[in-house]
Amino acid sequence: MKDEQDQVIVESPSRRKFLGASSVALAAAALGGLTVEAQQRASTQKAEHDHSSSDPGQENKALLAENPNSNMPPPTDHGDMVPLWYSFDLVKKRVEEGGWTHEVTQRVLPSSKDVAGVNMRLTAGSYRELHWHTADEWAYVLYGNARVTVMNPDGTMFIGDVSEGDLWVFPAGFPHSIQGLGPDGTEFLLVFPQGMFSEDGTFLLSEWMAHTPTEVLTKNFGLDKAALDKLPTDALYIFPGDAPTNTVEQDKAEIGGERVASRYQYTFKLKSMTPTKATAGGEVRVVDSRNFPTSKNIAAALVIVKPGGMRELHWHPHASEWQFYIAGKARMTVFFPVDNARTMDFNANDVGYVPAVAGHYIENTGDTDLVFLETFASDLFLDVSLNNWLRRLPTKMVTDHLGFDADTIKKIPADKLEVLK
Ligand code: MN
Ligand code: MN
Repeated sequence: MKDEQDQVIVESPSRRKFLGASSVALAAAALGGLTVEAQQRASTQKAEHDHSSSDPGQENKALLAENPNSNMPPPTDHGDMVPLWYSFDLVKKRVEEGGWTHEVTQRVLPSSKDVAGVNMRLTAGSYRELHWHTADEWAYVLYGNARVTVMNPDGTMFIGDVSEGDLWVFPAGFPHSIQGLGPDGTEFLLVFPQGMFSEDGTFLLSEWMAHTPTEVLTKNFGLDKAALDKLPTDALYIFPGDAPTNTVEQDKAEIGGERVASRYQYTFKLKSMTPTKATAGGEVRVVDSRNFPTSKNIAAALVIVKPGGMRELHWHPHASEWQFYIAGKARMTVFFPVDNARTMDFNANDVGYVPAVAGHYIENTGDTDLVFLETFASDLFLDVSLNNWLRRLPTKMVTDHLGFDADTIKKIPADKLEVLK
């Protein structure tokens, strides 16, 4: 009877719908011999299959279709959990001539105190105005091409081009720029290790000029007052421009060549790097201060899970996880004491959150590759694999805890595979 129970519990919700009255009857018949928790679980399962789960009133069918587990959780879910989900498609776009921006921060996802994210579009030639801010900036290019610049406090300058799958890092307080390149500009995700960060709260060159007395500007620049006539009177923020005709090398030569060149690299090719781990189930590419030394405060993994595959049961011992879903469909369950588990679905353009040290998995529930980013406000990517842990323990200890015999334990992957088939 226990086998039947377990089987029903691990079925996906779509599969569970088709389990007939026989398993319901079996579950009901078994109630007498079960623990209180197992009784609750069996009772929930029974309720899901009978009239109890009918919903004769209104439903948002489009939302339900994308979020079946969020709405009707598996019976293993229990208790309460901090918010785990939000979507960029629910936050307003600030549209300006040349592009747009919108953000998922602690304001809309209050559990995410360590990380905030921004999604931005720049058409070809358009600028994100010269600026700087209080948090480090980590960015992943989702589409197209861009040119970025950042100056070190010692006056040395980095200029680089990025394309889809590349990333950049700008340290807090370092002045920088982003410009969309041809043929169709760019779209990218920005990640900041500060939950309350806002793209609307950055230090803009145009605003500083507008709030500084004219006689101070002329003295600072060594210019006549007439030279200041064309200074912008409003914030530029995002504005159109012409795509540069210079190559990066020509730009570098124009500003002084090697003499003023940054000794630090601020861009990184993430998507095209050799996978950190490749298995039958997918691939993981880790980028942190070990392979990208300028990324001191953000660590990340680009994860690809093939259809039917799963990011294994694991947790992160040092930091909360902020996820961005790039493609495909997923469900994740997060476990947190005491007795709390919450399952939610994730689709492209959604954000996921996992509290520090909370156990979780991410399962590909679609029929295409699931692609997502795991980001952490940390210098290192660290995770602990449940399988790995169980296989490093003396056999007797695992048997005493989980009831698996020695032969069964040997079937569990011994190494940290990250993504399972
Ligand atoms: Mn910035
Ligand atoms: Mn994780």
